[in-house]
Amino acid sequence: MSTEKTTNPFLIAQQQVRNACDALKLEPAAYEILKQPLRVMEVAIPVTMDDGTVRVFPGWRSQHNDAIGPTKGGLRFHPDVYVDEVKALSMWMTFKCAVLGLPYGGGKGAIKCNPKELSQGEIERLSRGWVDKMAQVIGPEKDVPAPDVYTNPQIMAWMVDEFSKIRQYNNFGLMTGKPLIIGGSAGRSTATARGCVFVIKEAAKKLGLQIKGAKVAVEGFGNAGSFAAQLMSELGAVIVAVVDSKGGAYDPSGLDIKAVYAWKEKNGTVKGAPGTQDISNEALLTLDVDVLIPAALENQITAAIAPNVKAKIVAEAANGPTTPEADEILYKKGTFVIPDILASAGGVTVSYFEWVQNLENFYWTEEEVNSRLERMMVESFNAVHEMHSKQKVNMRSAAFMVAVNRVVQAMRVRGWLH
Ligand code: GLU
Repeated sequence: MSTEKTTNPFLIAQQQVRNACDALKLEPAAYEILKQPLRVMEVAIPVTMDDGTVRVFPGWRSQHNDAIGPTKGGLRFHPDVYVDEVKALSMWMTFKCAVLGLPYGGGKGAIKCNPKELSQGEIERLSRGWVDKMAQVIGPEKDVPAPDVYTNPQIMAWMVDEFSKIRQYNNFGLMTGKPLIIGGSAGRSTATARGCVFVIKEAAKKLGLQIKGAKVAVEGFGNAGSFAAQLMSELGAVIVAVVDSKGGAYDPSGLDIKAVYAWKEKNGTVKGAPGTQDISNEALLTLDVDVLIPAALENQITAAIAPNVKAKIVAEAANGPTTPEADEILYKKGTFVIPDILASAGGVTVSYFEWVQNLENFYWTEEEVNSRLERMMVESFNAVHEMHSKQKVNMRSAAFMVAVNRVVQAMRVRGWLH
């Protein structure tokens, strides 16, 4: 049984922003502007299915705040997605971009569908349909989507193609997370995970923890989770468990991540990978490990689970994985939580690099991307850590304070606030 006041991500995001506004002693109008998106577009997308019937899918794009620049954020395909989740995710993007000092506001999109039950042709028509309906509100200077849960570079490619047809010229800066051949950036596919690992290294230094030999559990084995597991194991950490939506793989002496990845490619899940034991999501979250990386969906670490979390560091590669009540419990226990708006910011940071490369038509090497990413993640970690130490608040509140402060500064100079 959960003791959560709410698991509605929009109400949670509002509370986080409210707390930061209060802590920064801002005038009420600041929160009044920030407490909701500036614009939410809701569309219905008819798709001709392979059997000739037509199905209509609901889609959204929420643009939370553009004081610092064009809105930016991923596009999620999920059967359970709903508008309040999209709004919350767009709010978190505003503050994620602000923590990293990116010249962007926050946006997020979604289509309510189950991509696992759709053919490639159906996914292509659905993706193009979303762009047709959203063409007025998106664009390289307005709002720049990217991959998120269950979307990928191929989907970005169809979307850029559709937009380019509408505009009648190539418009690669519309989306980020594209395939390399049409303006994708080196290092983008591993960027969320790499950014997360950079801040884990910083946190480990502060706590005096060795990454080599540290035990790690990863919840989620998509783009963020699978690469985070791989990168951590390359640093000598021992990945004891991973789970995806269908099951888990556990080996107390350490998993061979490449082998687990290959197994998932073939079987659609990590469950049953040779030489591993099964493990549930909840059991993974409460394993006796040094580092826990939630890299799946919202509301995974709840008030019921938090008291049993044993990890010293929780690095949130997912958006919103910890409920506010669980957050309190972890803080009181002394768990070091690296909040989502910092720990998951590597993806959008390299998205920014991709967009800059598209605007300039001049492409960088992977080394250049990774070293710039490292510098920005480390600087942002230190800014948040300093706020955390000075104000004696947890890392999440500190991150929101740093971010809200920047967005409010922009709103002030633009004359939205006095
Ligand atoms: N979907 C990712 C996120 O939640 C990346 C967004 C982007 O690259 O714009 O941060």
